[in-house]
Amino acid sequence: MKIADRLSRIRPSATFVVNTKASELKEQGRKIINLAIGEPDFPTPAHICKAAQKAIDEGFTRYTAVPGIAELRQAVGMYYKRCYGLEPPVESILVSNGGKHSLFNYFLALLNPGDEVIIPVPYWLSYPDMVILAGGVPVFLPVNAKEGFKLTPEKLAKAMTPKTRLLILNAPSNPTGVSYNQEELNALIDCCVTKGVCVASDEIYDRIVYAPATSVSAIRRWQHHPELVTVFNGCSKSFSMTGWRVGYCVGHPQLVKAMSTIQGQSTSNVCSIAQKAAVAALSGAYDCVAEMVAAFQRRRDLALHIMSSWKGVLCPKPEGAFYLFADMSCYFGKNGITSSSDICTYFLEKAGVALVPGSAFGDDACVRFSYAVADEVLKQALKNMENVLPG
Ligand code: PMP
Ligand code: GLU
Repeated sequence: MKIADRLSRIRPSATFVVNTKASELKEQGRKIINLAIGEPDFPTPAHICKAAQKAIDEGFTRYTAVPGIAELRQAVGMYYKRCYGLEPPVESILVSNGGKHSLFNYFLALLNPGDEVIIPVPYWLSYPDMVILAGGVPVFLPVNAKEGFKLTPEKLAKAMTPKTRLLILNAPSNPTGVSYNQEELNALIDCCVTKGVCVASDEIYDRIVYAPATSVSAIRRWQHHPELVTVFNGCSKSFSMTGWRVGYCVGHPQLVKAMSTIQGQSTSNVCSIAQKAAVAALSGAYDCVAEMVAAFQRRRDLALHIMSSWKGVLCPKPEGAFYLFADMSCYFGKNGITSSSDICTYFLEKAGVALVPGSAFGDDACVRFSYAVADEVLKQALKNMENVLPG
């Protein structure tokens, strides 16, 4: 079978690859604890499900406007008003099939062949492949654990070239959980704005932050530079709605129109029922979010406490999201381990724990743990690993 050349330039999403492998092993009867996929373990809150049921009962089951129903685009606007004190108008908002789809539409709408996109490393694993599919050129900018996995404006300025079209920021970060504070985020954006470089601010974890860290957003920079700054978010993580596929972005109305044209020629609107559910999520009470965040914080602390006794393993304390990104290169050279992929295979086979290799995020010294699982399950997984630590 002859497949298009572009497929030779990208790889399957490692999170889904490991997730599928873990499910297959479970079906074969192996006891596997899955700390690979990044999705909250909580059910979607009842009031959100009820809104979807109501949509079905009322026959709200047809095509909608491509960029999303007005009610949902307004609810997105109100979300920013509620959380950040600024309400973007409907024409600057596009609703897509998950934040992933919003980003994909964006790269297709923005990039010309050869445009350079600066991607700080470690990165969420889909960015480079999406950029490549859109004809762009990923330019990797490593930021290591000693730098707190944080990019500085000085380092960013040095990496820019005349071909730089765009910078991708993600705070809190998948995979590190590290966030910028508002001043740090603003400084990075300003560095781009002065050079006419676009910024994609992926804020899908903006509700999942642990005090004293606070939620940050590029929305106020968008207000002043809509032609350069675009903000991405979605319902998957904050409202435990991964399967509903609702994401959105706030951008320049012309860009939103272009992205909507792409969406109209590919996937059309997001599922009508899911859109009604998202209206309920964004405009309802957020105490369900606070409950989930409290559980994630407890699990983060539990995991860090157990791992603190693993000699040589380094793991910065995450301020948000629900991942730990641990440097486990201390195991290189032991039990035949030479890569992050080997570490994951080792723990999958010996401890029955599924993790994602850091190589998928651009850092082969590290391994990603998702702690979006029940406390007992997390404890068991780490104990199983502790029993077989390489050495
Ligand atoms: N950005 C980041 C950083 C993510 O971790 C994810 C995880 N799925 C997404 C975007 C997209 O999420 P979704 O498509 O489910 O909205
Ligand atoms: N973002 C989640 C993760 O990193 C879900 C999987 C994906 O979208 O790739 O695990």
